[in-house]
Amino acid sequence: MNSLIIKDLHVSVAEREIVRGLDLEVERGKVHAIMGPNGSGKSTLAKVLGGHPDYRVTSGEVWMDGVNLLELEPDERSRKGLFLAFQYPSEVPGVSIANFLRAALQARLGEGEELEATDYYAKLYEKMALLEMDRSFTARSVNENFSGGEKKRNEILQMAMLEPSYGILDETDSGLDIDALKIVANGVNSLRGPELGILLITHYQRLLNFIVPDYVHVMMQGRIVLSGGKELAFELEEKGYDWVKEEAGELAAV
Ligand code: ADP
Ligand code: MG
Repeated sequence: MNSLIIKDLHVSVAEREIVRGLDLEVERGKVHAIMGPNGSGKSTLAKVLGGHPDYRVTSGEVWMDGVNLLELEPDERSRKGLFLAFQYPSEVPGVSIANFLRAALQARLGEGEELEATDYYAKLYEKMALLEMDRSFTARSVNENFSGGEKKRNEILQMAMLEPSYGILDETDSGLDIDALKIVANGVNSLRGPELGILLITHYQRLLNFIVPDYVHVMMQGRIVLSGGKELAFELEEKGYDWVKEEAGELAAV
């Protein structure tokens, strides 16, 4: 029950099928990495799991701890324990990170329930200490003039505060300098634990030097074509993706 299960998922974007029969199970407590060439549908997978309206599931199933994820609205998915790392809002001038996160947590409480300021700040500072973040960071306006590294810091802090059951991190290829990579890696490593399953999507093996995954999957042309342990990431770094294509021969014909 305690896993995120994707069964034979098909997703279309603008009338084109991008995810084409994808199967994957992410257990709580494990880190699964998805790697794959550009255009293989990795970000599409992340977006469709989050409930992005442009991405249409044409068939397949997604279950999160026994709940049918595809029947839920995006905000319900989040309340039920799914976190998508690229969901940080665009710039919110004048709203500090501390107030933004407080509103996000307050929004999850039932009617009449009040998030106590002292409890909130205790939790915020506990998480920041865990992530080794400077407290002054939360006084900044959300995403206003943020560097790539600061955006990552904000995402990771959001994940720490929301305490999801599953975190999906789409580390897109552009703009991740080594500092940003380390922020993501330190964050994920300190949040790792039996309650949290992570799906880490990345184009570059480099990130997996810092976050050692339990499993590595290769996605090509909308499917997982090869799965293995952490050593698979090194093999891909060394040999590229072409040999995988050959092994998954029938895909080449498409
Ligand atoms: P990856 O993250 O693996 O590089 P993407 O999921 O971003 O791959 O893209 C897979 C394919 O889907 C690409 O051909 C891309 O052009 C197409 N695609 C993704 N999003 C959209 C969209 N919103 N509209 C049209 N095509 C899209
Ligand atoms: Mg992508």
